[in-house]
Parts: sequence; structure tokens; C-alpha cells
Amino acid sequence: MKAISKILLPAFLFIFISFSFISAQTSNSTPKSVLVVYGGWEGHKPEEFKDLFVPWLKEQGFEVVVSNSLDIYADKEKMKNFDLILQAITMGTITKEQEKGLIEAVKNGAGLAGCHGGLGDSFRSNTSFLFMVGGQFAAHPGGKVKYQVNIEDHNDPITTGIKDHYVNSEQYYMLVDPGVKVLATTTFTGEHASWVDGVKMPVVWTKSFGKGKVFYSSIGHSMEDFEVYEVMEVMKRGFLWAMRDNK
Ligand SMILES: [Zn+2]
Repeated sequence: MKAISKILLPAFLFIFISFSFISAQTSNSTPKSVLVVYGGWEGHKPEEFKDLFVPWLKEQGFEVVVSNSLDIYADKEKMKNFDLILQAITMGTITKEQEKGLIEAVKNGAGLAGCHGGLGDSFRSNTSFLFMVGGQFAAHPGGKVKYQVNIEDHNDPITTGIKDHYVNSEQYYMLVDPGVKVLATTTFTGEHASWVDGVKMPVVWTKSFGKGKVFYSSIGHSMEDFEVYEVMEVMKRGFLWAMRDNK
């Protein structure tokens, strides 16, 4: 018996230590952390937007922090940990300190993603924020209209294999930074604003900002927009693409 325990005890210890090491390694590879900030104009149903995407982000294994206040942007320590910031705030105002916190986080490698007014029509008077996003909403002639979205880049991981598709929603006319990488466009007919007839407008774009990656789609006036397979797929891929690669 003594002889057996002499062999078994070290064996058990070895297995125990090995398991502890493996579990410590697993916990060291911390999951990616996503901050979802929502609020602003209620017409874009920011809470419904949050409820649509937060469960999906959790299903991907990400840690998700949800905030309906911009104060978190000013929290340097917390902001350091986020690998992706998903913002859904139409219009509204941001303090200098909050704006600085968000900009620094993205410059340091956190991704920034969003859609429609939640990222493309936030804090209209903050030029540094606009410089980071790469575009600003200006109009949606005709309100809710049926329009086609044309994929421009079939090689980008966000739009590869995605077909041109129709959306019944607001067709955003935007002021866009010429430096963005355009992945999808829409062409205005001029029916509701004759002078923009034939204008090809970016719908989905990506860009860099410091070490961070920015993803934007102008679709998403109502949650029904995301029932279109291509719209939802591009959003999900965009979020994953913008995520910080490694810390
Ligand atoms: Zn809208």
C-alpha cells in the first residue's frame, strides 16, 4: 500500500499541477471585451438596438459592458480594456472629456463600430469625433424609400460573398471623408431631391484611426432593416473586423 501511494501521490500531484496550469492559461487568454453605449434620439430605438446586438456579442464569447451614459468614455482605466466600442447614440451632446476618452481609446487600438444615426449622426458639432468616424449624416430625401445597396468591394472580408440587396428604409445622404474605404454604395434617383440624381453615395465603409479600426454602415433606421440577411451579416462581420487584434 505504501509503495502504491509512493507512486500514486506524485502522479496525482503531477495531474493536479498540470490541470491548474492549463486552467490558468485558459483564464489568461481573456475574452475580447466589447463596450456598447446607447442612447440619444429615441426615434432610432437605441434600447432595441442594444437588445438586438448584445445577445449576439455574448454568443460570440465576448465580455459585454453596456452603458446608457457617456461618462464611461471619460473613465481611462475602463476604456483601456475594451477591444471594440459599439455606439448607438443619435445626435446628443458629448463633453470634451468624454470625447477625448473615446478618441484616445480608439487611437490606442479599440475598434469603433456603429450604424445609421447611432454613429453617423452623433455629436454634430464635434469635429474631432467626425474626423474619427469619417462621415456625417446630412439628409434622407423622401424619408423611408426602397433603395438598392451595391457591393463595391467583393474582396474585403466584410463584403465578400454578399450580394447587392434592397432595403426599405432611410437612404442616408452623407458628407463622407474621401479617405474611407468604401465597401458598399447606393445611388440616388433624384425623385425626392432632383439635384442629387445619379449621385453614388457610400453606405458601408471602413477606415483606420490611429491604431484603431472604424466600421460604419448607414443602414439601420429601424430594427426591421436588420431582418435583411445581407444587412445583418455585414454588421456582424464589421464588428468582428473592427475588434482590436491583440493588446
Ligand atoms: Zn433614421
